Amino acid sequence: MAPILEVKNLSKSFGGIRAVRDVSISIERGSMSSIIGPNGAGKTTLFNLLTGIYKADTGEILFDGKNLVGKRPDQVNAAGVARTFQNIRLFHNMSVLENVMVGAHSRLKVSLWRTLFHVGGFNEQEVAVREKALNLLKFVGLAGKGDELSRNLPYGDQRRVEIARALASDPKLILFDEPTAGMNPNETQDAIGLFRRVREELGVTVVLIEHDMRVVMNISEHIDVLDYGAKIAEGTPDEIRANPRVIEAYLGRRHSKVDESANPEVA
Ligand code: ATP
Repeated sequence: MAPILEVKNLSKSFGGIRAVRDVSISIERGSMSSIIGPNGAGKTTLFNLLTGIYKADTGEILFDGKNLVGKRPDQVNAAGVARTFQNIRLFHNMSVLENVMVGAHSRLKVSLWRTLFHVGGFNEQEVAVREKALNLLKFVGLAGKGDELSRNLPYGDQRRVEIARALASDPKLILFDEPTAGMNPNETQDAIGLFRRVREELGVTVVLIEHDMRVVMNISEHIDVLDYGAKIAEGTPDEIRANPRVIEAYLGRRHSKVDESANPEVA
């Protein structure tokens, strides 16, 4: 089967900083994979390029056969790519349910404004969006929380709302940027279960940027490693664990978050 995502020779510089250098990666349809690398390696910049937040200087992003370079974030989302952010980005004064409904707007024929504020009453499509958002809240484990203000939820639950919102756009590919950052061990364990269900029950291809090596090694079928903007390795968890270049990249950054996560296998 053709890969769902093929990134070819992608580069992006900010002034003199070459944040992403000639990176090529291939993501298999239906897979669960991770992108890892020390702080500043270019991981989030890569996600920002994939989702249209930044435009690549050179290179191609082929998603389902279409080149996404130059597309706006809403166009990328409509094409079937959704994401969550390293720093949770919810509308804090909106309800949990409304936050999830926002995620469906790329699939709506009526305006988001109309849907959220019921201008002119509900139509069939708006009722369906509400229903879908309620189902997604149930899926992520937040049944019954729809009417709460999102800012009042505990941190781990806010991450779940973001995941539900991303899923509301019916993605084929979902990009999670450090989804377990700030979670306690129980929340992390639950989150791992949720990522698996996204892939297995919804059939969505999952790519994570993740610093916690226990999470990475536990759930990834494939791992791509970035360092100083360039890809330095790819392979299975076992191959990555044993790769001298990867070990060196991490050992060279004594103060990186990865080292601090006390990962005996890599550090
Ligand atoms: P972390 O694990 O710490 O989140 P990362 O691997 O996600 O790091 P990026 O955030 O992609 O790394 O940053 C890669 C490099 O690009 C860094 O040197 C960063 O300072 C730089 N960079 C990222 N975004 C910008 C920007 N908008 N303007 C200037 N430099 C940037």
